[in-house]
Amino acid sequence: MPLRCPVCPKPLEVGQPIFQLARGRYFGPAITPTYRDHWAVLGKWHETCIRKCPKISFHDGRGDKEFDIEIKAQEQPYNCSLCGYEIECKEWVFYGVIGRKPREPWFRPERRGYDVEFIAHDDCIKRPEVDPVTQALMRSRKWDGR
Ligand SMILES: [Zn+2]
Ligand SMILES: [Zn+2]
Repeated sequence: MPLRCPVCPKPLEVGQPIFQLARGRYFGPAITPTYRDHWAVLGKWHETCIRKCPKISFHDGRGDKEFDIEIKAQEQPYNCSLCGYEIECKEWVFYGVIGRKPREPWFRPERRGYDVEFIAHDDCIKRPEVDPVTQALMRSRKWDGR
């Protein structure tokens, strides 16, 4: 069964520009070398489809969640697409890249200059009801003394 794009929903063909959403821990500054080991892929879309309909949905263990996101290329340092705060090293994040679909299930973005098209704190995705200042405070507490 070929993997289908959740928007159109045509199959995602090898060689097409694909937006891939993954979750993992950010070990900056080099995000891609650890990609294979630390990132779990949550979904894939055609680039044109996700740009037309910038919405991600995934299953988080309790139910399906849906988010409106902004597809915007970023260079480091990364700022969370949802709260605007900088992404710190070792934080759990959701992360989206655009690249051409290879034959294996993993790819690195081919576009030079930009690293990510979407990045957000784990908690900003999982607990959107908490305001950004409280989120930042909780993150700083989490990493105190380590
Ligand atoms: Zn599509
Ligand atoms: Zn955030």
